[in-house]
Amino acid sequence: TVVTRFAPSPTGFLHIGNARTALFNWLYARHTGGKFLLRIEDTDRARSTDAAIQAIFDGLRWLGLDWDGDAVFQFSRMDTHAREANRLLDEGKAYRCYMTGEELEAERARARSEGGRVESPWRDRDWREAPAGRPFAVRFRAPRAGETVIRDIVQGEVRIPNTQLDDMVLLRSDGTPTYMLSVVVDDHDMGVTHVVRGDDHLTNAARQMQLIEALGWSVPVYAHIALIHGPDGAKLSKRHGALGVDWYRDQGYLPAAMRNYLARLGWGHGDDEIFTTEQAIAWFDIADLGKSPSRLDFEKMRSVNAHYLRAMPAQDALAALEEFATAHGHAAFNETQRARIAGMLDALRERASTLADLLDQAAFLLTDEVIVPDDAAAAVLTEEARARLGALADALADVEPWTAESLEAAVKAHLKDQGLKLGAVGPAIRACLVGRTASPSLFAVLGGVGRETALMRLRAAAR
Ligand code: GLU
Repeated sequence: TVVTRFAPSPTGFLHIGNARTALFNWLYARHTGGKFLLRIEDTDRARSTDAAIQAIFDGLRWLGLDWDGDAVFQFSRMDTHAREANRLLDEGKAYRCYMTGEELEAERARARSEGGRVESPWRDRDWREAPAGRPFAVRFRAPRAGETVIRDIVQGEVRIPNTQLDDMVLLRSDGTPTYMLSVVVDDHDMGVTHVVRGDDHLTNAARQMQLIEALGWSVPVYAHIALIHGPDGAKLSKRHGALGVDWYRDQGYLPAAMRNYLARLGWGHGDDEIFTTEQAIAWFDIADLGKSPSRLDFEKMRSVNAHYLRAMPAQDALAALEEFATAHGHAAFNETQRARIAGMLDALRERASTLADLLDQAAFLLTDEVIVPDDAAAAVLTEEARARLGALADALADVEPWTAESLEAAVKAHLKDQGLKLGAVGPAIRACLVGRTASPSLFAVLGGVGRETALMRLRAAAR
């Protein structure tokens, strides 16, 4: 069976590009009925704080990417990694390197200027010649001749001359395993069959293959995917902002929409823009991953999100909005607020792309108080316009039922009575009920706010 894995290094947040890598691994595991494993590469102790690790769990959970079994913590497996390095040492496939820091420095400079690889004299020297007690690193005895060929699902056949790959360090002189060793041992022990990750790891794959072969294990299937670029085509970086998945959550994006949007970055199913996660699972294949970088397009992301927001069952949308609101410092909705929003949900979400938009649209429904108009709305509330609102409130006071339809009839009848056009009062009604110059239909707003609050706001504005 297929076993994929996601192996993030804690950096403080779940990077949006890594989230897409996780998604592809997850989709492939779910498509094949295999397993999707999570490994936290926490060997950088300074960066691997509880908070940084939690950010990865939270990001994956929010995106709905459930992993199988418990997460593996790389740091806790140090002894196992070292054991395999020592096995290679016993088998003569690795050697003790006693180069001092200065010698290494000089050798690096030489390799740089001559354009060769870093060579350790200890590859061919007897370690017993080393001064007693001097610390040593364990280096891999990499093949000198020939080439390493990666048969990559995405990149095709990638050939790397072995002269370019130096004798990598497996254990540092303090005995700690290196990244390259840990990855190989962990992937093997976790039974990983498919490695799907960013193409920044392509050269690592060649090194890891050499090591895997020396350890006598089988090489996994590799798929090195192109990285995500920013809207300007440059590699995604801090400069673009919006790096962490938590940012998208904060902006009110929906997990299902993010799965859809991210899946489309580097993978596709014909021209389909919108598909369910179930469809993505049914259709996904790593063979269809694209080779060229894809760009984040925030307009597209918003429009995909708008689609999901509008297609959500009302109860779910309401629940998502409430969760978003409380996460952003609002109190939980009371029954009145919930009923008002539910009554206007479709009109509100027609004007919203994200939960943040929706919450903003719904602001006038979340308070019973007078609304402070924004500047444009304040400009509409002229003395003349406000003077008309009191009479209107009196005319509407007893309308039954308090619905958009009967309110429309009552408003129109009142205006006819007064010899006024809707344009003479409509903007002022909106300005005092919503505090803005744009909103869903006037009558829907009157109905949605409710009798008591609507009349109170009209009368307050009239004073
Ligand atoms: N920890 C590595 C990273 O975050 C990934 C290693 C791998 O996928 O093999 O880039």
